[in-house]
Amino acid sequence: MIKQYPILADLHTHSISSGHGSRDTICQMALAASLAGLQLMGISEHGPATPGSVLPSYFSGIRLAPRKRWGVNFVYGAEVNILNLEGDVDLPWEILSALDYAIISIHPPQFTPWEVPDLTQAYLSAFRHPKVRFLGHIDDARFPVDFERLLKAAQAADIYPEINNNSLTPQAYRVDGQKNCRQLLKICKRLQLPVLLSSDSHGVAQVGDMGYALSLLEECQFPPSLVLNSDPVLLQQILKRPSRNCRNRKI
Ligand SMILES: [Zn+2]
Ligand SMILES: [Zn+2]
Repeated sequence: MIKQYPILADLHTHSISSGHGSRDTICQMALAASLAGLQLMGISEHGPATPGSVLPSYFSGIRLAPRKRWGVNFVYGAEVNILNLEGDVDLPWEILSALDYAIISIHPPQFTPWEVPDLTQAYLSAFRHPKVRFLGHIDDARFPVDFERLLKAAQAADIYPEINNNSLTPQAYRVDGQKNCRQLLKICKRLQLPVLLSSDSHGVAQVGDMGYALSLLEECQFPPSLVLNSDPVLLQQILKRPSRNCRNRKI
């Protein structure tokens, strides 16, 4: 671990329930989180539109799961799919409202390559859903967005971009992760917008492992004070704040 960026939280992880060949239960991941020295762990299964993932009822029940495992505090969210250019997502309002957080992401089954203004607007429109706190892997050049516009809007809405470690590995299936994350970090540094590092671990293997993301932060001389993973208390506070971006209904 790079000392100036202590990693005490990992909020983007998937258990066996998300499919994709993950074979580990939340209990196994909890032990891995404890061994990795995490203080706060989040489980964020894929939304129901991802082939092989869980039904909406899973997300209704998960909030009742234990909040402490192996000494690690647990929060439960979802990595929802943005389904269309209108920013609809694959969990209903009522279920999202009861979760601790949502990560909004675009994945290949839902989108074919689209234009930058349309994809940017899709993310912006998805801000309206309850508990949206993080932008999932916006570094993927297959789904290019206007970083400047999206990040400024995110900052105003109390929403934070992630630096997804999976996007940065040599075997990454996403495109241009290194180049785009560099750009993203540059803008966040200028805006003083904090980022969330994510392992996006599918099972126990990478829980708390942000090695590639940390190397990039160091290379970009990114301020440690803008890394949310080092402050689990602040992260919990962010999750508990009322959503600034929610329209139409009070949550
Ligand atoms: Zn994803
Ligand atoms: Zn994920």
